[in-house]
Parts: sequence; structure tokens; C-alpha cells
Amino acid sequence: MSNTLPTFPETLAGVYINGQWLPGGTVLDVVNPSTEEHLASIGTGDANDVDQAVQAASQAFPAWARSSGAERGAVLRRIAEGVRQRRETLVQLQSLNNGKPLFEAAIDVDDVIGTFEYYAGLAEGLDAQQDGPVELPTEDFAARLRREPVGVVGLIVPWNFPMVTTAWKLAPALAAGCAVVLKPSEVTPLPELELARIIAEAGLPAGVLNIVCGTGLAVGAPLSSHPKVAKVSFTGSNAVGVQVMQRAAETVKGISLELGGKSSLLVLEEADLELAVELACGGAFFNAGQMCSATSRVLVAEPLAADFLALVQARAESIQVGEPFSAGVEMGALVNQAQYQRVRGHIERGIASGARLVCGGGRPAELERGFFLKPTVFADVPKDSALWNEEIFGPVLCVRSFSTEEEAIALANDTQFGLVASVVSRNLDAAERVANALQAGMVWINSPQVIFPQTAWGGYKQSSIGRELGPWGLSSFQEIKHVVRAV
Ligand code: NAD
Repeated sequence: MSNTLPTFPETLAGVYINGQWLPGGTVLDVVNPSTEEHLASIGTGDANDVDQAVQAASQAFPAWARSSGAERGAVLRRIAEGVRQRRETLVQLQSLNNGKPLFEAAIDVDDVIGTFEYYAGLAEGLDAQQDGPVELPTEDFAARLRREPVGVVGLIVPWNFPMVTTAWKLAPALAAGCAVVLKPSEVTPLPELELARIIAEAGLPAGVLNIVCGTGLAVGAPLSSHPKVAKVSFTGSNAVGVQVMQRAAETVKGISLELGGKSSLLVLEEADLELAVELACGGAFFNAGQMCSATSRVLVAEPLAADFLALVQARAESIQVGEPFSAGVEMGALVNQAQYQRVRGHIERGIASGARLVCGGGRPAELERGFFLKPTVFADVPKDSALWNEEIFGPVLCVRSFSTEEEAIALANDTQFGLVASVVSRNLDAAERVANALQAGMVWINSPQVIFPQTAWGGYKQSSIGRELGPWGLSSFQEIKHVVRAV
């Protein structure tokens, strides 16, 4: 990794329409969460820019939709290659803007490459499937099946995995033949702006991807209700997801939502304790806990509970917290002041609710600046507390013990969310049985939270509507058309 970090011009253009960078009317500051210092100023857009971007996308759509899957796949492969060539810069940008350690940012960038390559493959496979015959119960009719892009789509993404949440939407949307208006998070727009340059260099026709940076109200809201947007794909909080859905309902848009979570890691009686501790810490402290998939509830079989707590405390206290460019750093800063205050509030209310603070709970004494918190562990967390029921989105792990498998499953499923779960046990029959009983879109057994582009992402209940990744990610940007002919 080079020592020269990216720098930014006085005001970065944050609006990209029809292949042109535009200054944008309102300047927003982007802050480095590790230093609390000003990082960049971005010119951002408003409803008028959204309208211009949608018009540009509408004009670019027909030609892009008519292009072959092979042609679109070739562009996606060039995007993946461009990201690979700029990997170092993109890793640094993720760390600078989001605060995550370099090794985590590298995982993000590699995920982006893998996602574009995967959807390049699916795009290339579309041509052979197009107009495939449909088996009918009579020879009096013949039918063929077409998969066509839904049209202009609005993509709205959060700040916790900049570029990754974007790639999971953008790659399948482009593969399907859609034209896009993307709204990055106003907190972390820098990685997406660099991605846009790479995409332009990869030869995506002007107008197929448009970007309008800005706040949720100035840009996200008009994008969600624009009559010419056929579908909105949103990742973010439940509160905003509901508003996006309401706005999209006015013109009956298609909608995909990836929202919050309150996921569990279950340590069954025959678990390898050391593995359980590693997975519990990974599930709660990766990305400083700012993960929709955080397994912030840990359920431990009663006989293991005391040993597990002692080991998890020791591991949590050993985690090196600091700014991402320091050697050996395992956990970075929270993304901004608001998130830092929110998580501190959760911790204070957790203590007031009677939960036992095992370790952490405040900022590391040696770090004077930056939105840093210590990895925090609570035990004996009351079932009716906010700590146990609400998404915390910070480095806070809550432990409860259980006495039977049924009790563990009931505790894990007792939430309005259903995004992911993890199970740890040497008894694979028990682990598979429990995995089948959990209401979650992804269950890992004895595994860290690996995500492959081939497997779906999304959850049960209020965590999601629809699925991203895999063939489901692609079909969420396609219409199905049957042409039936009398013979
Ligand atoms: P957020 O809901 O505040 O913002 C998400 C995006 O929506 C941002 O781009 C924001 O500017 C925009 N937005 C805000 N108000 C809007 C409005 N009225 N209309 C349209 N757009 C608007 O979420 P966040 O704080 O950026 O991210 C954290 C949340 O995201 C957490 O709840 C987390 O669980 C969720 N998340 C979910 C997944 C998943 O895959 N399920 C992945 C990552 C994050």
C-alpha cells in the first residue's frame, strides 16, 4: 500500500448526468471519521438534477436495452478490470471516508470485482435463453419467453459498505439492460464517485449510469417518486425504507428493500468454544458493528456460558481499535458523530435496563479524536430491553444463555427482523436442524460471514422485500414477457 493518500480538489462535482460532471448547487462537507477533519467538499444535487438524470437515463435506455447480453457482459467485465487496476486507491478511499481498517476495505473492493464479474457471466448467458420455447399442453399454440429490462431504475444506498451495496444493485441492473440513476450516501460519496470514473472509462454509454449525490430529502425522495422511474432498489434503515415504499406506491413502481436486522449467533452445546468466540467477535465488531447482518445477539448453551463470556471478554479487550492506516488495527471508527452518539445512547439505555456491562462501553482512552468506541459486551440482557430488540449498528455484543434448542430457536426468531443467523456446533446434525428452523435469509454454520455473489442476500419479515445477488438479483431488474401465437 503506498503512503500517498488520495487528495481532493476544492469542490468535487457530485452530479454526473449523461456522461458529464456537473457542479451541483449545494456544497456538503465529507468528514474523515478517524480524525474528525474535513476530507472533501461535494457539490450535490436536488429534485431538478434528479429530473435531468431520469431524462438522460430514459433517452439512453432503449439502445442499452436492445444491446445483446454479450455486449453488456463485456462492459461489466471491463468495469471489474478497471476496479482491479484501481484497487489500491479504492481501498484507501473506503478507509478514509468510512473509517474501516484497510483489510476490511480490501474485502469490500474484492467483493465489488467479484460481483461485476458474476453478473457479466449472467449477462452473457441471457442471449441463449432469450425467446426460449414454453412447453404448452396443446399444439394449437406456440409460446416463447422473453426477459426484458424493467426500464429506468433508481438505486439508493447507505454508508456502511459504500460501493458494495452499490455494486450489488448496479451490476445486475446493467446486466439486465436497465438505465440507472444512483444516489450514494451523502456521508460516504467518495468511493462511488471514483467508481463512476472507472465505469465511464470502461465504455458504458453516456446516460446509462447517472449519479446524483445529495441528502435523502433533496435527492432520494424525488428519485423514489419520479413517474419515469420504473423501479427503486433501496438499502438503508427501516424508517426510510417505509417512506421510499410509500412514495414508490404512488406510481406503482417495483421495489426492492434491504433494511435492518437483529440477528443471532447460536453457540450450541457441542460448539468449539474458540471458534465460537472468533465468530461472535467477527459478527459483532467487523465494520465496527455497522452491519445490517451484525449478529449482535449471542445465544450460548447454559453449560458453556461462563467460559464463553470470559473468552469473549478477553478477545474483545484485545481488539486493537484505531485509525485504518495504522498497522495492526482490527476495528476502525464509527462513521460520523451522529452514529457515535446514537450507539452511546444505546449503551447508556442498556445499562439503565439492567443489562450487565462486561467490557467496553466508552471510547478508548488513548484515542483523543475520531468516532471511536471500544468493543462492548453485555451479558444477562433483558429480553424486553431496547438493547435486545433494536438494531444498534455499533460494536455492541449482547449475550444470553439458553437451556434447550427450542428455547434458543424461539429467542432467535423473536424479532421483527430476519436477515441472517450463525450457528456454531461440532454436531452438524444439530447445527443443520437449527439452521432450518431459523427465520433468516442466510444462515452460516461454523463459518464467518462469507457472502458469495452466487447466494442470495436478503431476509425474512421486516428485513427485506426481495433478494439481491444470485439470479434473483438479476431477475429483480427484469420483466417477464410471453408471446403466444395461434398455430
Ligand atoms: P438511511 O436509511 O438513513 O439512508 C440510506 C439512504 O437513503 C441514504 O442514501 C440516504 O441519503 C437516503 N435517504 C434518507 N432519507 C431518504 C428519503 N426520505 N427518501 C429517500 N432516500 C432517503 O440508512 P443509513 O444510516 O445510511 O444506513 C444504515 C441502515 O442501512 C441500517 O438500518 C442498516 O441495517 C441498513 N442496511 C441494510 C443492508 C441490507 O442489506 N439489508 C445493508 C446495509 C445497510
